[in-house]
Amino acid sequence: MTSAARLHYQTIPVTPFQQNCSIVWCEQTMEAAVIDPGGDLPRIEAAVQALGVDLRQIWLTHAHIDHAGGTAELARRRGLPIVGPNEGDQFWIDGLAEQGRMFGFAAAEPFVPTRWLHDGDTVQVGQCVLNVRHCPGHTPGHVVFHSPQAERAFVGDVLFAGSIGRTDFPRGNHAQLLASIRERLWPMGDETVFIPGHGPESTFGEERRHNPFVHD
Ligand SMILES: [Zn+2]
Repeated sequence: MTSAARLHYQTIPVTPFQQNCSIVWCEQTMEAAVIDPGGDLPRIEAAVQALGVDLRQIWLTHAHIDHAGGTAELARRRGLPIVGPNEGDQFWIDGLAEQGRMFGFAAAEPFVPTRWLHDGDTVQVGQCVLNVRHCPGHTPGHVVFHSPQAERAFVGDVLFAGSIGRTDFPRGNHAQLLASIRERLWPMGDETVFIPGHGPESTFGEERRHNPFVHD
């Protein structure tokens, strides 16, 4: 049954950092998940309403405040489970109030994920199944969500069009980030379109040809 269901998505830049929050949904059931609700919850909720989807879950790529800052409030208000990131980001979740001061955001509430994610896990919205890959380097607990069927990957701050994630934060690791990109993103295929945490979409093939940080 899952092979027939199509995955749709809409991306909404949120927070002063213009973080790409994405709403993903199953065409068959209209059940939806929101990936990285960093803030601007009224904008996200207006988009959910305009799309006519049934928001069921929150999925997190990592716990930086511009990606995860709105999580606790949205989860509480709508009774949603919080799925991800990986346990490696616990210290970033614990530090959400401190991150607010560090990045000039309003303090965000910490939260307890309903489910931590690990490499090789899957997540499901309606009849659409996405694969989870653990891609540490930008943060230790960073994960990405990949739909082979839709040829889309939601990669947070691992890779951008023409750039890569910062690794100068606590527990960042540049070599690990490069390995995550080459060993876990490239095998998804050159034609796969990725939705980065900031800026425009691109394909893995384009980045393998032209990205100065990780080209072949
Ligand atoms: Zn980040």
